[in-house]
Amino acid sequence: MKKSYYPSLLLCLVLAAHGLFPFTSSAQRPAKPNAADLHAGIKKLNVLGTVLYVAAHPDDENTRMISYLRNAKYYDVTYLSLTRGDGGQNLIGSEISSLLGVLRTQELLMARSVDGGKQMFSRANDFGFSKNPEETLRFWDKDAVLSDVVWAYREVKPDVVINRFYHDKKYDTHGHHTASAMLSVEAFDLAGKADAYPEQLTQTQPWQARRQFFNTSWFFYGNQEAFAKVDKSTLWPIDIGVYLPLKGKSNNEVAAESRSMHRCQGFGSLSSRGESLDYLDFVKGDRPATQDVFEGINTTWTRVEGGAPIGQLLEKIDREYRSDRPSASVPDLLNAMQQIKSLPDGYWKQRKLAEIKEVIRGCLGLYLEATVNEPTATPGDVVKLRLEAINRSEFPVQLGSLEIRPGLFDTLPGFILASNKGWVLEKTVRIAEKAAFTAPFWLQNPSTMGMYSVEDQALRVMPETPRYAKVRWSLSINGIPLEYETEVAWKTGEPAIGEVWRPFEVLPPVFVEFTEPSYIFTQKEHEVVVRAKAGRDKVAGKIMVGSLSQPFELQKKGEEKTFSFKIKNENVLSGSTLSASAEVEGKTYSNRLVTIQYDHIPQQSVLLPSTTRAASLDLKVKAKNVGYYPGAGDDIPAALRQMGCTVKVLEAKDMELATLSKLDAIVVGIRAYNTKDELKLHHPKLLEYVENGGTLVVQYHTNFELVVSQLAPFSLKLARGRVTDESAEMRFLLPDHPSLKTPNKLTSKDFEGWVQERGLYFPSEWDPAFQAPLSTNDPGEKPSDGSLLIAKYGKGHYVYTGLSFFRELPAGVPGAFRLFANLISLGG
Ligand SMILES: [Zn+2]
Repeated sequence: MKKSYYPSLLLCLVLAAHGLFPFTSSAQRPAKPNAADLHAGIKKLNVLGTVLYVAAHPDDENTRMISYLRNAKYYDVTYLSLTRGDGGQNLIGSEISSLLGVLRTQELLMARSVDGGKQMFSRANDFGFSKNPEETLRFWDKDAVLSDVVWAYREVKPDVVINRFYHDKKYDTHGHHTASAMLSVEAFDLAGKADAYPEQLTQTQPWQARRQFFNTSWFFYGNQEAFAKVDKSTLWPIDIGVYLPLKGKSNNEVAAESRSMHRCQGFGSLSSRGESLDYLDFVKGDRPATQDVFEGINTTWTRVEGGAPIGQLLEKIDREYRSDRPSASVPDLLNAMQQIKSLPDGYWKQRKLAEIKEVIRGCLGLYLEATVNEPTATPGDVVKLRLEAINRSEFPVQLGSLEIRPGLFDTLPGFILASNKGWVLEKTVRIAEKAAFTAPFWLQNPSTMGMYSVEDQALRVMPETPRYAKVRWSLSINGIPLEYETEVAWKTGEPAIGEVWRPFEVLPPVFVEFTEPSYIFTQKEHEVVVRAKAGRDKVAGKIMVGSLSQPFELQKKGEEKTFSFKIKNENVLSGSTLSASAEVEGKTYSNRLVTIQYDHIPQQSVLLPSTTRAASLDLKVKAKNVGYYPGAGDDIPAALRQMGCTVKVLEAKDMELATLSKLDAIVVGIRAYNTKDELKLHHPKLLEYVENGGTLVVQYHTNFELVVSQLAPFSLKLARGRVTDESAEMRFLLPDHPSLKTPNKLTSKDFEGWVQERGLYFPSEWDPAFQAPLSTNDPGEKPSDGSLLIAKYGKGHYVYTGLSFFRELPAGVPGAFRLFANLISLGG
């Protein structure tokens, strides 16, 4: 077999998407490295070492270790997170499931843009908490996930692999965690064998990593005191508290900034300074005899045949580098680049060529930008492109040719970019009729609970969808060619913020969505409403739901219209999925557009199927006027409206008994007591409301950072108990309790068809004033009676429930609606 060590297309894309310079770039914005960043870049050119860090979720990664290896040791570091964290909770908004996965993907990319690591994922879907790896690997397609881990090994070509978790059940942790380490251990040998996943070898090569470690920590031992007592003589200590003068920060400070990007998980971290030991435990491979985890691994240019003089030249460049005039290094850097180019083809040649070109670009003060006048376009649209190039060094740079891919335009400017004289080209281009949509690729095919389906091997571990259009700039200095590629992005000036950059999106001409995430049908016929939104000017055709259709016409991009359809009850039965679509010029579009917008990530446009859950059910609700106190984000108000209730979303001005007493029930949003400081003031009002005869339903909370010392009128101790099996048996301890009987008489059938889990963070202890009508547990575990707790208080009812109504109601689970109706109707 011909040995080829070119990185695959994937690696090139990953290299392109993540600049060499932490802090200075994101996927959209051109990097603007300062003199210290460039000096660090020069030092990194002389280090040929690679680390792969493996764990299960966004936030599992030890950013201190990643930043240390990247910024203090100058290794290439990649974090492979097997999932995108879809199954977790969201502290800052209402995105859950796949949308949360999109948000966390971007948070990880932002974290890497701070610590300088690269980011990969696998096709594994985070299906929620899993108590052991056997269960995890029943939901994940083990062979498919293992193939992705093997592919990551072969692409990253790590010398050293570090697993965040231990590869058997020695420590009690999330099943995804243990499974991530088990798969990494298995991949360690498989990646080097040509007969393992041979189909990958048309695009990559086998790779045998040298050794693998487990990044142990105090949290495996319960607390820091217990870990302090552990014998560490067999471990590899690393002082990750070093100072990084080129950043003006301690490594731990950089790591804290990186970790603080995990905002939807509430991981804003305080930084720390000073010596701090982190430990690696040997797992497999070639065991080092000393405390150097890279012992025996040549990380200098002599590891490449003919590389020695390149290393010497780079040392000279490092020594002579002038922070007041980085361009003085350009002639030597060009010389080093030419020497790298003349090496035989190989992995390090490709990698270091990509790096040195970025260092040269920075030293030249060369700025290349490609933007369009619209943030989104549809296939066939014409957009106005603006290209800008400026060279801020004393060396004349020739702008030879320009190519706007894919096949949009090319030209030969043959222009000399003189020092600090800008060059701008404006040009209209037509987006190809066949252009693929740029929304997250892993959501484009139907997924299962445990797996995303991605056909293209190169995409499988990629963090995000490659952008539609790129500009290839062919430049030269003194006849030495230099090529760069920039993504076409959208930017605008916002008076209150300044420059705002967004990915340029190719999206469908029309989006359709049901106005409710789920419908419940209690009559013979029910109205469902579909909203159509134009992705471009002048779009017309028909809107369809099942066999029903209506014509539509939208004039302006962004314009919306709603269309109502009468659906017969018998077509919906106990629970089914309704789909909407639009037909335009013979093509069918069946996506809704969800925009995810936060100021710490680039705006995301996500295409999801235009479906809703519909269930025909016998539902009685006594509560008519229901208040909703918002928490961290859930869709409960929409569900209450479906139940026929009038919903009042409570604001500060409403928190008076005179207003509250008009409500039949009040529902508190998930984690409100964890996230809303003002609840401190409003909590006594809510209890007073209950005392006066109201019904208060408090959804799940965690016991971490509650804004009140006591959540309920009686003692209630929150804990971490959960039941993750969504079909776990629900035993009726108090079958005559009104919550199970009035106005809807519940049976075991009402607990069929639940999604993801029964519930989470069940209390472990409660005052005898509480009644516990239900008991449940995961297979093989002790019963937990804390999923639903109800106490009479004064003339009213206080309900605390960890049952996952925030997942079940938007998913249209009939029994969950019936139980919820009983809870809000407790007051009669
Ligand atoms: Zn985790």
